[in-house]
Amino acid sequence: MKGFVEKLGFSDMLATTNINFTSDNLEDIYSTLAERKECEGVRLQLETAIYKYFSSFELPDAITKYDLLILSLTKKDCIATFNWDGLMVDAYRRMMRITQDLPEMLFLHGNVKVGYCPECGSFGYYNYHCPNCHTTFSPSKLLYPVRQKNYNKDNFIKDQWDLFEDYLSCASIVTIYGYSAPKTDADAIEKLKNAFTRIAKMRYLDQIQIIERPGFNHNEISDAWEDLSEYVHGHLKIEESFFDTYLAEFPRRSVEGYV
Ligand SMILES: [Zn+2]
Repeated sequence: MKGFVEKLGFSDMLATTNINFTSDNLEDIYSTLAERKECEGVRLQLETAIYKYFSSFELPDAITKYDLLILSLTKKDCIATFNWDGLMVDAYRRMMRITQDLPEMLFLHGNVKVGYCPECGSFGYYNYHCPNCHTTFSPSKLLYPVRQKNYNKDNFIKDQWDLFEDYLSCASIVTIYGYSAPKTDADAIEKLKNAFTRIAKMRYLDQIQIIERPGFNHNEISDAWEDLSEYVHGHLKIEESFFDTYLAEFPRRSVEGYV
């Protein structure tokens, strides 16, 4: 998210606010705009630009790791993502041509390709109709990056977190992919820990696997993951590729394979 605002071509717009932004990080810039009433117009335009940018992403025709990740799980599993772009949604839709037995998909910060029904709370592909109320889904709101995140403010995002916490509380294997749990995400990390220990404080036989970039220094692992590893009796593995995880080794039977 560093340099992202410039990439959006938004630098000139920011200059009109006469604020001296000390950081080029999207979270810092957005938080500053959100704290000032007089910047509301610029903030809304920035939100629109972010939404448009992430809506423009497209998958290549060839199979991707997203397709394989989705296909490696079944309906008793769940993938929860912070991604705003719709690539995971598009991969899910094309994997549905192979099987309907696919994991639940959850979008913890909203998603440009996901809609929901404010009446009954069901959610799905953004331009579909609610299967219960037959009205067009409303676009899910993106949770824009403020320093103090409020996961309860938006009904859709709150529901997504509630579902995710239910899955996390009883998961045998938790795989963390592309998320380093920075200290600034204290609220999210606290929610993760509480959900993980909701049913049992100690989970001696469960497993956490983290997929990190190749050459990652294992000593740089986030404190949050160190804490989680204590609950699982040290059963924490750091892998450098999706293909080294239980998901790829035992697709659709990862827990059976692990046991
Ligand atoms: Zn509905």
